[in-house]
Amino acid sequence: MAAAETSGTVAAPGRWSLHGKMALVTGGTRGIGRAVVEELAALGAAVHTCSRNEAELGERLKEWEARGFRVTVSVCDLSARDQRERLIRDVANRFGGKLDILVNNVGTNIRKPTTEYSADEYSFLMATNLESAYHLCQLGHPLLKASGSGSIVFISSVAGIVALFSGTIYAMTKGAMNQLTKNLACEWAKDNIRTNCVAPGYILTSLSEGILANKEFEGSVKSRTPLRRVGEPAEISSLVAFLCMPGSTYITGQTIAVDGGMTVNGLYPS
Ligand code: NDP
Repeated sequence: MAAAETSGTVAAPGRWSLHGKMALVTGGTRGIGRAVVEELAALGAAVHTCSRNEAELGERLKEWEARGFRVTVSVCDLSARDQRERLIRDVANRFGGKLDILVNNVGTNIRKPTTEYSADEYSFLMATNLESAYHLCQLGHPLLKASGSGSIVFISSVAGIVALFSGTIYAMTKGAMNQLTKNLACEWAKDNIRTNCVAPGYILTSLSEGILANKEFEGSVKSRTPLRRVGEPAEISSLVAFLCMPGSTYITGQTIAVDGGMTVNGLYPS
């Protein structure tokens, strides 16, 4: 086993930097994924990202290039197995067979009562939220191992920790992701790959704007959140970046809620 990268001393250079790191962030055109791409790139990482919308990827790329970020993109539907395989081939080519950081961010939701989900909706949510992340870990493992200091971060949800009325399938995918975090942390520690999970509360993005536009719903979320507001994507990306830095090299297997205190205030489920 190669010597693990450590945080070193407090004064160690690079402890709070991602210079020289190579990262794959899924779903980087909007919301939390976009904030993660920008946070990692601003801290010095070379980042590859993907989404299904070529035009939006092109717009983002222009913005990122104008800001001096080192970002490349692929059009990819992560719910399809062959497209995930192609994505990892692109990443291996771009980064010379190594990957330091894998952020499994893509996820979506269909909110409805359990009795109303169709078999296709079940398969779609499972493939998009869970199978894609699981398969990307499998495909990415040799690249992360080759890095000598790999870091996987899953973007889960508080819906995988407590019972919310966000939809049972979504909650199941996120709960499974929280468990996967622990298993991979144990299984792949020998390869110097750390695995952690960030579980956001309500964050204003294109995924949540519809439901948060309902003022009654938004009010109920705020009233159950000690910080009395929803979060912003940059409040998630800061923790993701930390979990990928030399400053966090003794943290693995953790699911960390970033939710304004929602899951600790004792008022769930409601
Ligand atoms: P958004 O819908 O705002 O952004 C999702 C991103 O993923 C977009 O870039 C989208 O691009 C891409 N994407 C979606 N499906 C696919 C796919 N099949 N293949 C490739 N790319 C895809 O979502 P958020 O930023 O809100 O959510 C990001 C993660 O955070 C998700 O896992 C979500 O469950 C989690 N989360 C979000 C919360 C919130 O309140 N917003 C709360 C808790 C967790 P495109 O559609 O063009 O493909």
